[in-house]
Amino acid sequence: MGQAQCPICYSPLEVRDVTPCFICGGWPEAVERFTTATEFTESRLPGGQSLVLCRGCRLEDFMVADGWGYRLVPGETLPANGLRWVRQAEEPRLGRDKFCPTCNVRLAFAEVIASAHEAAEPGAAADPARLSAPETTAVTGGPGS
Ligand SMILES: [Zn+2]
Ligand SMILES: [Zn+2]
Repeated sequence: MGQAQCPICYSPLEVRDVTPCFICGGWPEAVERFTTATEFTESRLPGGQSLVLCRGCRLEDFMVADGWGYRLVPGETLPANGLRWVRQAEEPRLGRDKFCPTCNVRLAFAEVIASAHEAAEPGAAADPARLSAPETTAVTGGPGS
């Protein structure tokens, strides 16, 4: 039985061509840019889930505040530190996977997020208010505004 809904936001999923990256794999531009020379690494989360990421997503989502990594590896100043290197993917290929257009990630990643939440807070559902917290980016104009 296939999963028809995103385990995070319950949006209906789309089937797409994907690169091995769990996060951007379903983005058309990532598929377009994909070559067998693209670098993908497999790593493991503290909770034991394995994760395949391209270089860009590893940098953006595990080393920059507000990335997915901060939800997956709570308690690390730099979530990338909580990732255990497993291997570099050899001969990466395009495949097909379900994709959540709302979360903008592959189902593979949505499942990792969902299971990480369960592992971190057994019984406690993810707080939707926290997921949709308003951005607090204050735009500071220069003096003389
Ligand atoms: Zn990626
Ligand atoms: Zn979703």
